[in-house]
Amino acid sequence: MILVTGGAGYIGSHACLELLLAGHEVLVLDNLCNSSRRALERVEQLAGRTLQFVKGDVRNRSLLTALFAAYPVSAVMHFAGLKAVGESVREPLRYYETNVSGSIALCQAMAEAGIFKLVFSSSATVYGESAMMPITEHCPTGVPTNPYGQSKLMAESVLRGLANSDPRWSIGLLRYFNPIGAHESGLIGEDPNGTPNNLLPYMLQVAVGRRRELSVYGDDYPTPDGTGVRDYIHVVDLVQGHLKALERLEQVNGVSVWNLGTGKGYSVKEMIGAFEAVIGRPLPHVIQPRRAGDIAQCWSDPTKAAIELGWRAERDLSTMLADAWRWQSRNPQGYAETQPARQGATAQTALAS
Ligand code: NAD
Ligand code: UDP
Repeated sequence: MILVTGGAGYIGSHACLELLLAGHEVLVLDNLCNSSRRALERVEQLAGRTLQFVKGDVRNRSLLTALFAAYPVSAVMHFAGLKAVGESVREPLRYYETNVSGSIALCQAMAEAGIFKLVFSSSATVYGESAMMPITEHCPTGVPTNPYGQSKLMAESVLRGLANSDPRWSIGLLRYFNPIGAHESGLIGEDPNGTPNNLLPYMLQVAVGRRRELSVYGDDYPTPDGTGVRDYIHVVDLVQGHLKALERLEQVNGVSVWNLGTGKGYSVKEMIGAFEAVIGRPLPHVIQPRRAGDIAQCWSDPTKAAIELGWRAERDLSTMLADAWRWQSRNPQGYAETQPARQGATAQTALAS
């Protein structure tokens, strides 16, 4: 059985689905601070199988101990965390506590229970403003400019120290580039709270009429068309990389770092053009000044994951955008509305606190 912390969230819910489809038993721990139970009900609907759900906090050591005593967990995918850059500047301690202390509490409980396989959600943000492009895993980590990025780098350091101290650990640090898209069914997808920080969720909300226009943050970057360039990766490709990493951790000990990206960068203007082609109409947008803390460009060299995991992102940009649009247009208010939630297939255990 795989414990998926943060399994009700955007990436975690897609991971739960792929794990179920691959035949794994799945236990989700999530406090639902940024997600909905409905996501898990839809995962079960798509998989045709149930999972176990415990509502609780990853910082709660005694809950973790009780979970590991009650379920035959063999490995953990650790998605639970906070991810809003701006919020992390306003509330740094909450970010360090959740993203760093939460990871420490999880590892302590895992070690106590004799579980030593961990797949960790890291981010390309740990590279900072890389002088080298594309970014390989050998590029030095940078100095993240906000507590969110710092918390990911700190958590990576904690996990490295842990693996150095005890050879039983097998830890995969997965550095995500820019996950977008949704499951092709349109039943699960990204449902951010409040105003979206990220480009695609904002574009989607403009397209369904929840926001007036997209702000393009800067058209004076040293990039081909002046707008920021990123490596967007389909969330289903991303989580398939997690399953490959999990397999690989059966064979290697210590810490392994893998970039999960496509190796190709697209500018904001290219994203708008490709999205307009999907929705068949113009997307209202306006050029604004640069956003503080943004870098000009960032894309991966995903060769290491290809060689060591036998994994490669397969879905192209138009598929990412079409899948994201299917999700958003069928669920304009995310999980908050529309299709009635299926009643109670998800088992919730008495351990929930
Ligand atoms: P998300 O917010 O949709 O999912 C995170 C989940 O963790 C949510 O369901 C939330 O309720 C849960 N959670 C938060 N704090 C918790 C706590 N203390 N205890 C238990 N559950 C808790 O975010 P996501 O986009 O799915 O991201 C998943 C992970 O990937 C995060 O660690 C994030 O930092 C990392 N990541 C995301 C991106 C991205 O662009 N989405 C990029 C790089 C890394
Ligand atoms: N961006 C934008 N308008 C928005 C959100 C993002 O122009 O409303 C730009 C941003 O400046 C960057 C790219 O889109 O060049 C991706 O931003 P996102 O926040 O999605 O990812 P990150 O910057 O964290 O890689």
